[in-house]
This record gives sequence, structure tokens and C-alpha cells, in this order.
Amino acid sequence: MSTGKLNDGIRAGVAELLPSGISVSDVELEGPYLVLYTKDHEKLSSDHDALRQLSRRWRRRVLVRSNPEGRLDTAEAEREIRRMVPEEAEIQRMFFQPETGEVTVEVTNPGPAIGPEGSTIQRVKSKIGWVPTIVRAPPIPSRTLDEVRLHLRNSFDERHTFLTRVGARIARSPLPDELWSRTVSLGGYREVGRSASLLSTPNSKVLIDCGIHPSSDQTPFFNAPELLPLDSVDAVVVTHAHLDHCGLVPTLLKYGYAGPVYCTAPTRDLMTLLLLDAIKVVRAEARRSLYDSSHVRDLVTRTIPLRWGETVSIAPDMQLTLYNAGHILGSSICHFDLGPNRHSVAFSGDMKYERTWLFDAADDRLPALDTLVIESTYGGARNVQPSRRQASESFSTFAAKVLARKGHLVVPVFAVGRSQEMMLVLEQGMREGRIPRVPVYLDGMIFEATAIHTAYPEYLNQDLRSQIFRQADNPFLSDIFHRVDSGQMRDEILDTTEPCVVLATSGMMNGGPIMEYFRAWAGEESSALLFVGYQAEGTLGRRLQGGVPQVSLLADGRPVSVAVRMEISTIEGFSGHSDRNQLMNYIGRMRPRRLLVNHGEEARALDLAASAHRQFGVESRVPYNLEAYRVF
Ligand SMILES: [Zn+2]
Repeated sequence: MSTGKLNDGIRAGVAELLPSGISVSDVELEGPYLVLYTKDHEKLSSDHDALRQLSRRWRRRVLVRSNPEGRLDTAEAEREIRRMVPEEAEIQRMFFQPETGEVTVEVTNPGPAIGPEGSTIQRVKSKIGWVPTIVRAPPIPSRTLDEVRLHLRNSFDERHTFLTRVGARIARSPLPDELWSRTVSLGGYREVGRSASLLSTPNSKVLIDCGIHPSSDQTPFFNAPELLPLDSVDAVVVTHAHLDHCGLVPTLLKYGYAGPVYCTAPTRDLMTLLLLDAIKVVRAEARRSLYDSSHVRDLVTRTIPLRWGETVSIAPDMQLTLYNAGHILGSSICHFDLGPNRHSVAFSGDMKYERTWLFDAADDRLPALDTLVIESTYGGARNVQPSRRQASESFSTFAAKVLARKGHLVVPVFAVGRSQEMMLVLEQGMREGRIPRVPVYLDGMIFEATAIHTAYPEYLNQDLRSQIFRQADNPFLSDIFHRVDSGQMRDEILDTTEPCVVLATSGMMNGGPIMEYFRAWAGEESSALLFVGYQAEGTLGRRLQGGVPQVSLLADGRPVSVAVRMEISTIEGFSGHSDRNQLMNYIGRMRPRRLLVNHGEEARALDLAASAHRQFGVESRVPYNLEAYRVF
């Protein structure tokens, strides 16, 4: 059916459901959204009953937009906003989005801008005809976020055409067929890395994650017949921004995937940061990247950000809802409702079922599950970890010991997640005098990743959210932190004999600036290398944990042998992954009918599956890569 005819049908249906006195001049399907254009913007957007009915009838989130002809031009609208919003709100910036009729106003103090019971914002809205959203300006500006916003503004037309095409595709009528659904393991089964799972029904196909293997650079099984041709895939859903989950999404785009990518907004921004950086890392090592920056830009254009808890149709017989996974900023458990019998399948992605210094524990308020696909990084019987509090105390004690003997403390971290937690622990320890006050150097995008965290406070836990908005208390703005922003600065740090702490990427020591600090200080007995995150098999981090006395590294393209004399230690308990007990608690809480275990070394995955079966009577399986399972 053509888009025009499709929309005519919907417009008639919408008119039937609308209360009298509200008229809609146009309707559009934009990706998973039903967009209504109206001159009665205020009346319609406050009629929650009508919106709920419309949303249920078309299984879409309903967006209400003002008619373009009712809007002031942007310059005039901006003048009016500055005139009407009280000065103490301190307007920082505004972004007009002509395609939606929205204007985002960044302010230092949202209260006065919104006004008592929203009165100020209402007055502004009726005056300018645009729909204003007041947001708090992020306390640390992020270059990535600015670039993403600029790109979205510059690609309005392209994005609109794209969303309309996706909208029509989602609305196609499902073919009547026998009902079935299956998952195909395309990567990350009986291993950690290159995560990819395909979920398919007679009508639809969705790929969940498409990552790269951290040590071997192996890709998921792109040539599996179920995945081809790539344009037969309806949607890609990304659980979170770590490269072992999203590192090859741009490659899918490069080789012909033409559909949308669903994830949270912070996942989109962190993913952009990490994917662009990965290109640089690969090129610096004179290897060929499997995509280039144009594919990352294309990915931003095609990403449809979803909020946690919002349910949208992404294919004729599939609805998607994202829930907090507690692992890193924006990380999500992906829940699918399939077919008319509403079979319920969830993919945990990487998940943490414990509140951390950054996030709330993974959400356990999902609908009853038929199938749960769960990670098992720490799924083995003995993979029980200390609590966050115990881990923080061990960290402070260790740091104090190394700094007291005037050593350098080097902590390899992922730019996203663990580094921000380490910053919080260091800041608190130094403020309270448990750790000597020394400079903390942040190398390799950690600062930029931190800026993205402060731009999405609604994705952080409550305590941290309120802290970062009290300028004086914002732990990330402490003067102990120094961003390493040039090779020269790094060289100076490498030469220093003063004690200091370095947080640097990559977290598993398979490249990145961490290698330079390690090479420079490996021979110093007073210094220490401290692991706080999972080290995958085959990585240098894993070998060092194992106690190798000598390693061979590349320096300026030539292999050099490095004797390891620095202290090597590991503190457990900071992982963004659930430990064995947390995984079992989560399975026990969700009680799915069927459990598929992935994202873990074979022995751990098998152990978790066997234990879940014994304890909860759940049908449990540990698929191999390339196996398919019928889930109903
Ligand atoms: Zn992860």
C-alpha cells in the first residue's frame, strides 16, 4: 500500500477516535511513531485518554505536533522565549526542530522556566506555536552530543524520508501463516565477545546486537543464511554501547542493511564516541577498519531512540520495550512481544542486578517471560563477588598503599562505566582522606564519556543525579581529575617520578593509551597495575592476571620484550556484570519458562544453566554459535 493511502486510512480512523472539538490536519507514520498534526495542540496533548486509545489501536507511540503554519519563525520564537522565561532560569542554548515543531531550551535552573504548574511554559507554547521542552544544561559540555545534534539537524530531510519508509514497512500486513518464532545464535554463545542474536517469525526478523570480539576481532556469523539478504532484516536493536555488542553495526550498514537501529539516546551517543574511536585505534595499528566514519554518521541518522518502558511496534508482529539493565549508561534489557499470541522473549544483554555507584539495579518488572536469553559472564558456581562497598574499601586501601610508597597506580578501564565508578571512588576517598591526594589522569576518551553521563541524569541513580546538579558537589568536576588531551601531556606524565593515578583505556589491555603507561612503568617495583573489570580470554590483561613475568609488546611497530616487576592485582566487585548470585536471583525472580544462556565462557554458561534448571525447574539450554532454537 502506498504511504499516502495508508495515511488516509489512518486519518479516518484517528478522526473516529478523537473527541469533538479537536481536529487533526495530517497524520504520518514515522518509524514506530504515529504523528498527528493539529492546531489544537494543547487540547489534544492533554487528552491522555484519547492518546492512549490511539496508541493502543495503532500500537505506536503517538506524537502530537503543532501545525507548521501556526508557528512563529525561529528568530522571532527565540526572542519571545528569552523575553518570557525569567532571567534566573539562565537560558544556555536552544535547539529548534522544524520537522517536529519542538524547541529544546537548555537552562541552568528548570524550575523558573517551567513556572508554577507549568504556567510559564504553557504561555510560551501558545505564544510561539512551537512545543517547548525545558531541560537542564549538562554540567560538562560533550563534543559528541553537540556533533550528534548538529548531524541530526543537518539530516532532517533524509531522516524524515527514512522514518516514513520505516513506518510504512512496520505497517505492512502480516502474512497468515502457522505461528512460530526462533532465535539464531550468530555470536557470543559459549564465549564472551561478538554478541549477535537473530529473532525471527514467519513475517519479521530482528537482530539483537552486532559486536566484535575484543581479542581476536572475530565477527558474528554474517554469512548465516538466516541473516541474508541483510535488507530482509526489519530492525537492529542494540542493548548497549560496548563494542562487543555494537562494534559491527556500521558494517551491517556498509553491506546493505537499510533499516532502523533501536536503542536508548545515551547508547546512541556513547556508541558514536566508541565507534569513531575504534576507527582511529585500528588505523593507528595499520589494520583495515571494517567501516568508516560515513557509516557511523549513517547509523546516527537511522537510530530511533527509545525511552525505558515505552512499547513500540518495530515489525508487523513484534513489539519492543527496553528496560534498565544496570550495566552501563543507557544499557537495556530488550523485551519482545511476538505475534497474536503475544509470546514474550527478553534478551538481558550485559546486566547488573545490584545497585551500583552509578545506576539502579537491572529492572525486574518485566511482563511474564516465556523465554529469557541471559548473559553468564560471572555465571560459574564460584563467581561470587564482593559488594560494591567492600570493593570500594579494598580499592582505597590498595591505592593508599601504592601512593604511600610513591608508586604510580595504573588502572585499565573501559571508557564507559568502570571509569566513572573509579572516578567516584577516588574522589570520595581523596575527599575523605582515605587516599592521599594526588593527580588522577584520565586518558583515552574517559572525560568525554563522563560528559555524556552528566547529560543524561535520568539514566543515573537518584543520589548521583542530585549530586551532579549541585555544582559544588559534582564529583566529576573535582580538581583531582586531569584530562590527558595531547601526546605531549602523556609524555610528561610518563616521565614524572611523583606518585599519581592513571585511568586509561582499553580495559582489557588490547591496545589504547594504557599500553604506553604499562610499558613505561612495568619495570618499577613501587608501581602497580590494578584490574577492576573482566579480562577476556586471549587478552593481555588476562595473561598479566595469570602472572606472566615477561611480555612482548609492539613499540613503534617493533616487538619489544618487557619484564613485569610492578605489582599486579585484581579487585573484584566493580564489575558491571551480575555475579553468580545476582544472576540466579534474577532468573528466580523472572521465572521464565525457557532459559537460553549466552555471553559466558563455556563452563560458566553450562554451570548457570544446570543450576537454574535444578533450582527453578526452568528448561535451560546453552546454544552453540549458529544453532537455532524454536521458542514457540
Ligand atoms: Zn558490556
